[in-house]
This record gives sequence, structure tokens and C-alpha cells, in this order.
Amino acid sequence: MPKVKSEKTSRQHKLIAKQGILFNKDFGQHILKNPLIIQAMVDKSALRPTDVVLEIGPGTGNMTIKLLEKAKKVVACEIDPRLVAELQKRVQGTSFQSKLQIMIGDVLKTELPFFDICVANIPYQISSRLVFKLLLHRPFFRCAVLMFQREFAQRLVAKPGDKLYCRLSINTQLLARVDILMKVGKNNFKPPPKVESSVVRIEPRNPPPPINFTEWDGLTRIAFIRKNKTLSSAFKQNAVTATMEKNYKVHCSLNNIDIPEGFSMKDKVENILKVNNFETKRARTMDIDDFMRLLHAFNVEGIHFS
Ligand code: SAH
Repeated sequence: MPKVKSEKTSRQHKLIAKQGILFNKDFGQHILKNPLIIQAMVDKSALRPTDVVLEIGPGTGNMTIKLLEKAKKVVACEIDPRLVAELQKRVQGTSFQSKLQIMIGDVLKTELPFFDICVANIPYQISSRLVFKLLLHRPFFRCAVLMFQREFAQRLVAKPGDKLYCRLSINTQLLARVDILMKVGKNNFKPPPKVESSVVRIEPRNPPPPINFTEWDGLTRIAFIRKNKTLSSAFKQNAVTATMEKNYKVHCSLNNIDIPEGFSMKDKVENILKVNNFETKRARTMDIDDFMRLLHAFNVEGIHFS
């Protein structure tokens, strides 16, 4: 009896120790264990034999191997050196070894190499920063097939008026076409995450829209602080007008424009919104064209958001 018990305990210990090594929660480590999902993601990325693929967070390499079968080269960026060692062991002595380049480190702090396609089951905590890092990367890649938390995926594709429509939706859709490809349940991962997942396809708009993205981001940041409020009230907040006034004064001094006595930024902004029929509009129902017109209306009056 005691022997059995101790064996069981030792088995559990081993399991915990193994999970402790392999699955570090801080790194969002949830390994895709269902080969059908991995295959579906690889198929949806429509890889060509000449492609260079970027994989973020290869983990133990379940997807990496499938990518290596299809592509010319895989560049995999992994933050956890223990998993890098696993992955290296897995390809060592195989024909894949020379096709795999591993970058060790935080993908958000790494300069990305050239790649045609990005395929990855990523750690969810870096989703938003990663999307914009990819979309602002040059030269353009063809497409990205990425696993996200389901609600994040829904935000990416949300349209004006949808409940989840937000700054993430409009900023992403300005730079890319986005579609949800499939739903993926928790139990396809080991260990299962707390949230449901979805796979999304992101295709950068190439050529990109003729917009300064930093300015665009500054404008949508203000408009979406209270997305249900009118623009008129969003732009009346003191912190907002103070920043806009500061930027405007820099613009005026650079362009030798005199600022009249008793100048009021609030009045100027209110007037621009009124003249262009934006006063009573609300961010939650405005589309990309609306925001382009709004940005233009501000810019021609010397008001900038970066
Ligand atoms: N793609 C693998 C593992 C997914 S888990 C699979 O599907 O099986 C997420 C992976 O991302 C883990 O390997 C984790 O170590 C890695 N990771 C987490 N944060 C990262 C970061 N900032 N940069 C690069 N890799 C990261």
C-alpha cells in the first residue's frame, strides 16, 4: 500500500515539475495539442515553397515542424530559453535543421526579419502590441494567420455600431483586412487557457492608406475614450484640449502664424466639429472614412495629433 501511494505521489511530482518547466503562465504558454487545428492554420496560410515564415512563440515546436514541411525557411522568435532548447533538440540532425532560424528573446523588443507570412499561436498578453508591430513592419508581408483570445478577435473585426467596435477595430482595419477563420475551444490547448480562442487572418493593405498612423492613432484615442459620447463632448475634456493647444502652438510657431489674443482651443475645436457636421457624431458609429474626414478637417486648420 504505502509503496503504491508513494509512486503515485512521485508521478504527480514529476508531472508538476514537468508542467512547471514547460508551461510558464507569465509567458502565456498554452501548447496547441490538436494536430487538426495546427494543420488547419498552416493550410489557411496558403504557404508557397519559396516563403519565409515568421513564427512567434514556437514553444515545443508542434506548429514549427508543420511550417518547415511547407516553407523555404522558418524564423521562430521564442522568449523562453528552455523551450528554445526543446525546439533545437527536435530538429537536430533532421533536414529541417538548416531551414530553421531561432531568435531568442521578446518579440516586442526584437527587430523583425524579412518574412512573407506569419503563422502563430501567440501568447495572448502581447496581442495588441504584436498586431501593430506586424502592421507597421516593412517591407509588407502577405498575410498573418494568428490565434487570439476570442473576444480580442471579435474586436479586431467589429464594424461601426457593433458592441465590440473600438479603437483596436478601426486602427487595425485602417491598415489591414481582417477575417475570423475559425473558433477554437479551450480543450485544444495544454494546459487549457481560461478563455476561448479564434484564428484570424490579417492581410495588410498594400499600398497603405495615405495617412500618418501616429496622428490617426492620436485622434482615435481621443474619440474612443468615451465611444458612446458625442465628439463634441469627447473633445471638451480639459486634458484633451490642453494637449491639442500645446501641439497647435508648436505648429503656429513653426509656421509663423500669429495666435490671436483671447484664443480658445475649445472654441476652435467646437467650430471645426460644427462646420464639418461632426458635433453630434459618436465614435461607436463612425467608420474609417468618417475618421479620415475628421482628421483632414483638423489638419487643414493646423491641428495635429502627434
Ligand atoms: N506555438 C506553440 C506555443 C504557444 S504558447 C504551440 O502552439 O504549441 C506561447 C509561446 O510564446 C510560448 O512558447 C512562450 O514562451 C512564447 N512567448 C511568450 N511571450 C513571448 C514574447 N514576448 N516573445 C516571444 N515569445 C514569447
